[in-house]
Amino acid sequence: MSKAAHDTEAATTWQQAQREVVTDPAELLALLGLDHSLLPAAQRAAKLFPLRVPRSFVRRMESGNPNDPLLQQVLPLGAECRIEPGFVDDPTADQAAMAVPGLLHKYHGRALLITTGACGVHCRYCFRRQYPYADAHSGGSNTERALDYLREHTEISEIILSGGDPLTHSDEKLLQLMHKLEAIPHLSTLRIHSRQPVVIPERLTNYLRSGLCGTRFKIVLVLHVNHANELDQAVEMALGPYRDTGITLLNQTVLLKGINDNAEALARLSERLFDIGVLPYYLHQLDKVQGAGHFLVNDGDAKATWAELHARLPGYLVPKLVRETPGEAGKSWL
Ligand code: SF4
Repeated sequence: MSKAAHDTEAATTWQQAQREVVTDPAELLALLGLDHSLLPAAQRAAKLFPLRVPRSFVRRMESGNPNDPLLQQVLPLGAECRIEPGFVDDPTADQAAMAVPGLLHKYHGRALLITTGACGVHCRYCFRRQYPYADAHSGGSNTERALDYLREHTEISEIILSGGDPLTHSDEKLLQLMHKLEAIPHLSTLRIHSRQPVVIPERLTNYLRSGLCGTRFKIVLVLHVNHANELDQAVEMALGPYRDTGITLLNQTVLLKGINDNAEALARLSERLFDIGVLPYYLHQLDKVQGAGHFLVNDGDAKATWAELHARLPGYLVPKLVRETPGEAGKSWL
């Protein structure tokens, strides 16, 4: 098969996987052989934030186990409908940091583009689950305003593509955006935050890799993985060529009650990430978004778990335990 044919096939495969996700809670429960008593609550919570999970991610879940750590990240629960004091719609104050529509400028030297509201998977703990994507994104007619802002702000050297998930865009669209950014001389690093390489590993096409490597940017790809079970062989195979061409691969994890809030699970995750050439970067305390209160690990337990992890692993496998506090100059260490 020619390279062009291979890439066309890869694009068709990932876009098909992105279209054919599970969105019906009843289907998800049936696929996993789970009790239908979970359905009414799942349907209620899915009205607030729809269910969305790729089929290959479902195949990594344990059949018949309602506590599977991957399932818990995506299954809507009745607890999401509770109003929790201290939990808000915009816990990281994205709206206050929006310099122009879809461009967040919070920290010195770097800015972030909300490239889309689309995601391959809907994570129930997502801190942007209430984000007003319809208006506040950097696509369409907002792109030029964002680029103008970046041109004017010569202190910005790193541009972060976020969302939603930037890797839900086609390769062509992403590379077009990248070339526009590349024409801004003071930008030197392009960072992409994405959950796509894990939930739909076929997304990492050769065409995208060549495009990324063909620019003058230093490229950083930050994965979002919360549990070692997410990292199957398909993810490993997809990341290999990216790693081998010198793209820096990092991971950030959200500390999630009942999913990864123990040193054993976090150590397994760090070790597995290292096996496949990814360095653990951040362990985030949950951003207190309305609907995600049941995932919160209190600070005392978070610090104790991190200390245990620190005692087990070499320093380079221990992610920094951080939280984002609106108005601060960077993420704060706990
Ligand atoms: S992929 Fe990222 S932006 Fe999308 S729902 Fe999950 S955490 Fe939120």
